[in-house]
Formats: sequence, C-alpha cells, structure tokens
Amino acid sequence: MDALGRPYAPGTAGLDSWACGSLVQAAYGSAGIDLPDDQAGLYGVTTPVDPADVLPGDLVFLGAGESGLAHVGIALDPQTMLAADARAGAVVVRRLPTDEVLGVGRPSLGLRDGVPAPGPTGGALRVECGNAVYPPTTEGSRAWGGYPNGLIPPSALCPLGVAGHALRCDAAAAYRALSGAFAGAFGTPLCLTDSYRTYAGQVRLYGEKPALAAVPGTSDHGWGLAVDLCGGVERFGTAQYAWMVANAGRFGFLHPRWADPGNGREEPWHWEYAG
Ligand SMILES: [Zn+2]
Repeated sequence: MDALGRPYAPGTAGLDSWACGSLVQAAYGSAGIDLPDDQAGLYGVTTPVDPADVLPGDLVFLGAGESGLAHVGIALDPQTMLAADARAGAVVVRRLPTDEVLGVGRPSLGLRDGVPAPGPTGGALRVECGNAVYPPTTEGSRAWGGYPNGLIPPSALCPLGVAGHALRCDAAAAYRALSGAFAGAFGTPLCLTDSYRTYAGQVRLYGEKPALAAVPGTSDHGWGLAVDLCGGVERFGTAQYAWMVANAGRFGFLHPRWADPGNGREEPWHWEYAG
C-alpha cells in the first residue's frame, strides 16, 4: 500500500514507479518469497486456487477475450486488487470484473513448475498490466486502434496532468514517470507546449508554419505519440536537453534522428514515444 499512487512505468521496479509484475515481486520479496517480476512468469509459477476462495494477498490474473493474460495484482478482498495499472498510469486499487478474472494464485502454497500463460490469439495485441502493448516503432506507420491520424477520440487517450494535454495511454503513463524523474533532477516537471494534435490542429499549424509542421495527417502528434518540450529541452546543449538524452530512453521516449542536429530539420523540443 506504500506504493499506492506511484506512477506506472513499464520496466521499472520501484520505488518511484512500478510495473504490475515488479510490484507483486517486491511485495512478496519483502516477505521472503521469491517470485518472477512479469505477469506471464507469475502466472506460470503460482499455485492456483479457486477464485471463489480468494484471500487478501492472493495474486489475481486478469484476461479477457483474445488478449490472453492481461494483468496481475494483489487481492485486497474478493472485489478489489492493488495493482500497478497501465491504463490508470499509477498504482491503484481497482475493482475486479468477474468476467475478466483468468485465475487466482497463492504463492504461499509453494511454486509450481512453469506453466505457459495464455497469450493473445486472432492477431490481438498483447495486453500488459491492463493496457495494450503496441509494437515498438521509430519510423513509418504509427497507426493504432484503427483511428485515423488526428481523429482519435478523447476517450482513447489519457491526460498528462498538464492543461488539456493527452497522449496514447501507455505513452501518457511513461510521460508522467519521465516528468517525475525530470522533476527529481531539476525541481520542476517537464515543460510541455504540445502533445496530441488533432487533424484540424495539424491543418492550422501547416498553414502557419509549412516549413516546420508535418503534412496534415502524418504528424506523430496526430497519433498521440509525440510531445514538444520547453524549459531548456528546446535547445541543444542545455543541461535539460542532456538529461533527456541520458534518461528519456528509460521511459520509452527518444529524439528522432530527423530532428537531430545536421539532419535538415533541427527540433530539439520534439520527442517521441517508441515503447
Ligand atoms: Zn513536435
């Protein structure tokens, strides 16, 4: 419960941020029980019990439809679990939809030989810690969810906690964790001027700055996967820019090569989420 409210960030294991598996591993590790740090590994070795007999501390595995195994958390009671949740972007207490409980396990019963976790079928995206994992990409098509560029419904995006800014939910969670780490170094969160950009917004910007803006319908801002930063990051050679180069990758953000110095279109402020 000490982790409640901490950011969700894939690949991290506390204390500033957590993934669903690493949170379970740490909680049980503090009680002397060694467990894997990922949802599939946890599913594989945890001795199952009847979900109707769930006790506080049991591991709850969620999954639904074609996604296969999709989440792991720690049961607090038969209706709720504590989990580092990718959609919420934080360690939260969340309800357990009964039709999504794939299984319940009790590590204190001893571990079983690894059993493969049910994976996605029918071409579905893998779901990790409650949110879809999109294929990592740094170039080309960034399309996701079937939405056209710049026409993504607000309900499919997640807020960054800064004005009305939003990104795809996994990118938003990563951004919040990145900004928190930046604040740890500089005493102030990342300064943000732009994030998701609607198609209409792209058309407007292209009309104003054709040399700088992407052709409407092609901007990574239109996929909810890019941010434009300020507060020092918008200039090459600053301490803030150097910090981003050294640390952004830990949170899945990168500075695309086309925006690097000497590549024709220098944009120190533009950073993209590549998963
Ligand atoms: Zn940009």
